[in-house]
Amino acid sequence: MHAPLPAVTPSRTAFFFDLDGTLADFCLRPEDVRIAAQPLADLAALADLSGALAVVSGRALSEIDRLIAPLAVPAAGVHGVERRDANGTVHRLPPEELPPPELAGRLERALAAFAGAFVEDKGAALALHYRGAPTHARAVLAIAQAAVVRHPQLRLQPGKFVVELKPARADKGRAITAFLDEAPFAGRTPLFIGDDRTDEAGFAVVNAARGISIKVGPGETCATYRLDSVEAAAAWLRDLVCPGTPPV
Ligand SMILES: [Mg+2]
Repeated sequence: MHAPLPAVTPSRTAFFFDLDGTLADFCLRPEDVRIAAQPLADLAALADLSGALAVVSGRALSEIDRLIAPLAVPAAGVHGVERRDANGTVHRLPPEELPPPELAGRLERALAAFAGAFVEDKGAALALHYRGAPTHARAVLAIAQAAVVRHPQLRLQPGKFVVELKPARADKGRAITAFLDEAPFAGRTPLFIGDDRTDEAGFAVVNAARGISIKVGPGETCATYRLDSVEAAAAWLRDLVCPGTPPV
């Protein structure tokens, strides 16, 4: 059971937005994903209205920037492995906590047997996608599991038709905690909206801070509130920046 969404005062809220599956629908390949013009404009308007809005995504910072351009906001990328604060300073983990450089090639060779599956090299994490090869889910997962056994600095981060190998010491919850310690986010009520398992760590942090956690779409969650779809999330965002506007 999920409660109706509460009223939100942008000037007193620290907003954290996931992108894929939250503001944009999935595509077979992540580079084909686009955020529609209206939610993108509304995101920019909300960033202005609030003054405290960050993107918290599994994508690399450069990919986040490309997806929300021309908007430029603080952001945590690769599930919190890299974080750009409100001053523009980028915080990264030391190299020994990252996937070793040769691992991407090794995983690519291992996945070659499974048509439709591929490796996305984010540098700080490696994503094994199988949206185009859903029947090979178990085989892909087994390959990922074997890799984390060999590289104990990494952890598995399962998602929707993807399993990622990311540094153990990073998650979205830690990224949100770090933002909440800094201006302009500190002292505000946190709100985090996301759709996938990687977002659960963020929901937990926001719940502990008596904030507003919103899960987009179906599935088990510790979020307090739910919106049914990317379209419902866009309508909610529309209403935040233009209260009372009928959905388009
Ligand atoms: Mg997502």
